[in-house]
Amino acid sequence: MTLKIAVIGCTHAGTAAVKNIAAQYPQAQVTVYERNDNISFLSCGIALHVGGVVKDAGGLFYSNPEELAQLGVLTRMRHDVLAIDVKAKTLKARNLDTGELVEDNYDKLVMTTGSWPIIPQMEGIELGNIQLCKNYGHAREIIARANDAQHITVIGAGYIGIELVEAFRDQGKEVTLIDNMDSVMAKYLDREFTDLAGKELQERGVQLALGRTVKGFEGEDGKVNKVLTTNGSFDTDMVVLCIGFRPGTDLLKGQVDMLPGGAILVDDYMRTSNPDVMAAGDSCAVRYNPTGKAAYIPLATNAVRMGTLVGMNLLTPIVRYQGTQGTSAIKLFDWNIASTGMTEAAALAAGMNVKTITIQENNRPEFMPTYEDVLVKLVFENDGRIVGAQIMSRADMTQAANTLSVCIHNRMTVQELAFVDFFFQPHYNKPWNLLNTAGLAAMALLREQQAQTAQPAKVEVA
Ligand SMILES: Cc1cc2nc3c(=O)[nH]c(=O)nc-3n(C[C@H](O)[C@H](O)[C@H](O)COP(=O)(O)OP(=O)(O)OC[C@H]3O[C@@H](n4cnc5c(N)ncnc54)[C@H](O)[C@@H]3O)c2cc1C
Repeated sequence: MTLKIAVIGCTHAGTAAVKNIAAQYPQAQVTVYERNDNISFLSCGIALHVGGVVKDAGGLFYSNPEELAQLGVLTRMRHDVLAIDVKAKTLKARNLDTGELVEDNYDKLVMTTGSWPIIPQMEGIELGNIQLCKNYGHAREIIARANDAQHITVIGAGYIGIELVEAFRDQGKEVTLIDNMDSVMAKYLDREFTDLAGKELQERGVQLALGRTVKGFEGEDGKVNKVLTTNGSFDTDMVVLCIGFRPGTDLLKGQVDMLPGGAILVDDYMRTSNPDVMAAGDSCAVRYNPTGKAAYIPLATNAVRMGTLVGMNLLTPIVRYQGTQGTSAIKLFDWNIASTGMTEAAALAAGMNVKTITIQENNRPEFMPTYEDVLVKLVFENDGRIVGAQIMSRADMTQAANTLSVCIHNRMTVQELAFVDFFFQPHYNKPWNLLNTAGLAAMALLREQQAQTAQPAKVEVA
């Protein structure tokens, strides 16, 4: 009997799953349902496209239905899946071009429906020129509307908001960045880093409006012209909402186990609580290694890995998922910034007893014609286990965050980081690699604190 597999959603997780399933089970009948008119769109390229760095939007796709057809996969584009019955193993979809209803059944379902931007329900949200930023359609709309906008407001100072702000400044727009936190990129970076990033944004002419919450919008002729916040209002011609994402999993609500926010819980082999439903990518929770708990961290890196594992583990659990540190990076004008694992603020908020060190070092010997300042922060527990790190420099030191991600993954301590083997070559670093130096500084801090607690009580002599 032919194995029937239905895949819902075909961006990163879906494309990775489909290609792997097709490679490993060439006899299987794979049907993809995708409500959009494209597959495999790289959202990470939106800001680069808006800013004119990536001129050809075609480069932002790495697959298409024709390629999948060559692998024997049937891709039903512009088909919106409306209902799934996991007991009956059936689904219903609507062809968005013809209105026709399609019914299908499956042996294995792959849920790769991803996420959708959070849209706050507030006065004026329906006004024109309030844009979302997620897919290719959004990218085209942002570019078209930005053409006629002189003043653009970005709401949400996470990575996506910051990237757009830079792109709009590069296009000569007046830009306001609003966030309810009192620093930018607060989810990824602690104060030492966000202060530098905020200063850079201001020096580049971005109006920072932090520590205030958006309450609503006003407009004229159906188009937004004012953003109202808890602390003042801001004139604008266009708004881009970048306040986060929600998993798109309503179709499986009550049918498989989820986190309260709707992220599907999967085991190490991408199996949901229903044995015939697998899931991957932004629709899922991931195992967050710094805490060992399930968390919602929507990233393309997780999506492609999890999608690939769906293919590898479809019928038999073979290759385990390793969890994530949520490692990410951003270029902010001339700065290169990366982080992995928990910030100090996040660790403290989670009730963890952490210590930190922040070091400032040059990236290579001072005898070299040029060198750059680097800021590195380690977040670690009392026993030295590293749970987070941040790095920022005008030199591209972002790969160090990947190295530190591996350290967190392997539950390494600052003591191990201090003496682990790294190369030295004056073009690239110093005899003590920056990460060794950070490890040594963390060891010194732990020793100092241990010495303090071990000190005998003072005896008063009369
Ligand atoms: C602007 C931007 C920049 C980003 N930059 C980065 C970055 O630099 N690095 C990084 O790691 N991550 C980045 N991300 C995150 C990354 O894009 C997502 O994590 C990734 O797209 C998740 O892939 P996915 O396949 O799980 O889900 P999605 O990309 O959300 O795709 C889900 C697909 O399912 C389809 N679908 C949903 N419901 C249905 C239905 N009922 N019927 C049919 N089809 C359906 C959708 O149309 C969509 O194609 C960025 C995201 C954005 C928006």
